[in-house]
Amino acid sequence: MKRGFYIGRFQPYHNGHQSVLEHIAKGVDEIVIGIGSAQFSHLIDNPFTAGERVLMITRALSSLDRPFYVIPIEDIKRNALWVAHVRSMTPPFDLCYSSNPLVVQLFRESGVTVQSPAMYERETHSGTEIRRRMLCNKPWKSLIPDEVVEVIDELNGVGRLLQIAGDD
Ligand code: ATP
Ligand code: MG
Repeated sequence: MKRGFYIGRFQPYHNGHQSVLEHIAKGVDEIVIGIGSAQFSHLIDNPFTAGERVLMITRALSSLDRPFYVIPIEDIKRNALWVAHVRSMTPPFDLCYSSNPLVVQLFRESGVTVQSPAMYERETHSGTEIRRRMLCNKPWKSLIPDEVVEVIDELNGVGRLLQIAGDD
């Protein structure tokens, strides 16, 4: 049984994440997905709660042909202890997939094999760009799986983002 680990903040989950996870699914029996910075929500850079992000990912991957586990992981702000913290919260995994330089470094130092998947249309497919589009009423729905658009609409996520970005 080979399990692969993938972590992100998923604010929100988008087609770049989906494309990486579809690639990972081809190389492992099961996937462990960590939702980083799980304690943050209702912030311009972190608008959605961990539970809302669980919903986005679970729905978007409902037809994936591999079992997967979605685990919220709080940010402990201690990089040297972070891998142990992640391991304490997740099912055991054999390798990690990440292109984030810090994540790659921390896992490698802990002796975990890391693979870095290629980026998928990174200019548009980034959480930062999608949040920016939501805030200035530019098209964003084509960058996100349909199931995630539904979750964000159900939550009135754009309304939330606009409200918290406002001045008092
Ligand atoms: P933000 O701009 O908010 O940081 P993000 O798009 O980088 O959002 P994260 O949740 O930070 O998304 O990223 C999770 C993981 O997904 C990271 O390892 C990141 O490198 C990877 N990733 C992000 N965008 C893409 C993409 N377009 N193609 C492939 N991997 C991606
Ligand atoms: Mg990022």
